[in-house]
Amino acid sequence: MGANERIDWTARASGLAPDGRAVIDGRRIDAADGQVFDKHSPIDGRRLGAVARGQAADIDAAVRSARAAFDDGRWSSKAPAARKKILQRFAEKILAAKDELALLETLDMGKPIQYALSVDVPAAARTIGWYAEAIDKVYDEIAPTAANALALITREPMGVVGVIVPWNYPMIMAAWKLGPALATGNSVVLKPSEKSPYTALRLAELAVEAGIPPGVFNVVPGYGHEAGEALALHMEVDAIGFTGSTRTGRRMLEYAGRSNLKRVYNELGGKSAFLVFPDFADVERAAKTVAGSIFFNQGESCNAPSRVLVHASIADQFVDVVRAEVPQYQPADPLDPATVMGALVDGTQLKTVLGYIEAGQSEGARLVAGGRQARAETGGCYVEPTVFDGVLNGMTIAREEIFGPVLSIIRFETEAEAIALANANAYGLQASVWSDNVNRAHRVARALRAGTVHVNQYDEDDITVPFGGYKQSGNGRDKSLHALDKYTELKTTWLRI
Ligand code: NAD
Repeated sequence: MGANERIDWTARASGLAPDGRAVIDGRRIDAADGQVFDKHSPIDGRRLGAVARGQAADIDAAVRSARAAFDDGRWSSKAPAARKKILQRFAEKILAAKDELALLETLDMGKPIQYALSVDVPAAARTIGWYAEAIDKVYDEIAPTAANALALITREPMGVVGVIVPWNYPMIMAAWKLGPALATGNSVVLKPSEKSPYTALRLAELAVEAGIPPGVFNVVPGYGHEAGEALALHMEVDAIGFTGSTRTGRRMLEYAGRSNLKRVYNELGGKSAFLVFPDFADVERAAKTVAGSIFFNQGESCNAPSRVLVHASIADQFVDVVRAEVPQYQPADPLDPATVMGALVDGTQLKTVLGYIEAGQSEGARLVAGGRQARAETGGCYVEPTVFDGVLNGMTIAREEIFGPVLSIIRFETEAEAIALANANAYGLQASVWSDNVNRAHRVARALRAGTVHVNQYDEDDITVPFGGYKQSGNGRDKSLHALDKYTELKTTWLRI
């Protein structure tokens, strides 16, 4: 029995009173006009507390605090080695608060506690720690110009960075922006999703405890059309790091156009294709991998492999293995450490996912597993792991991002057809190729229009590699040293010598 299994998370949850006030200038603060909204847990509908409903005035206060912190250099002018030390302490504090952060994340958005503990908290800490470690090892450049000139190419922080994140991995998404933005000396105003505000607010407190000066990292909770819009339109915000839906990503570009042409970095939706060729011997491993990946985080992952393209000659075997995997992913109480699939984030998402399942059936796909709401008696938002076979690429469930535990299986005959089907989608976040033929694996990987292509696996991931999409899955890249580009301006300085 692991240490986590000895903890009674249900008992701990009942004693928790999360603080939903904003963190501005290093202090907890109510919304300027005192407005709040109630936050409920998707686990069983329980009320978690009141959360500040940030408006333009709150965003303005946070941006002014961030701007003042940036301009007086309390963070932006620190030597990288000094920022590194403080950010390392921040990462340590995140790990030290692991139980509390994991519990908040689970209650807020319904993911199983075991993954909040083993994936979300450690990944957030590692991200902050990794950028802390990196930042005093990044050098500027001198261009090879004329003998009597020096052309210095240097990187400077942007200034005030607005961060807007979704609810599916609230802490990890925040850390992917915070790590590079803070390491390079920016100040940040973060607006978490109204569906999962609590862990970001705690991160801001931990940052202050770690020694990040007040004003450098502010968090204003609230709705997208209120706090989010005010942040994206603010004239003193120099860049927006956005993760969310493609629909809202379009808005981010409009807001920038209507305000100060701030830089907009969009990390958006996905409909990732998983291609299984007949020359891949271990069909069982491929099928088990896809089940594990599509049902992880209740299917609420931007990179979920939601479209399987499988060669007709092995499709029946593939479907049989996936179907046999389904029972182990039945949703259960997220606070039970043995649970592998939890609750969808809220009733709206549940309705959306059930609507897609209905569309799959009415458009002629064959339901081979799941398809129904589950655990309704709990008052929570649960859906069965669901698998459709006989899907056509033009069907709604194959075209649109469902963001739930719903797998679409499409059969193909030739390699060219598989590539064409995989690319015939508005998204281009990730893809996976399964083949024992090294030439085919490289050929297909090269032909796929996706930001990440996996070969014969889907699980590898690391902060060292870029993450982001082609096409309507976004621009820019989170993670890796490449993310530093997003939060810095490049300056050329000419010197006559
Ligand atoms: P969403 O677009 O509805 O909301 C994302 C954030 O934007 C939230 O904080 C929300 O309050 C805010 N927002 C909404 N409307 C706004 C507006 N008009 N102005 C300003 N802000 C606004 O997305 P979601 O439902 O929270 O998240 C799910 C989406 O996120 C999926 O499409 C998923 O694929 C995507 N996602 C992408 C990645 C990636 O790295 N590419 C990672 C995780 C999630």
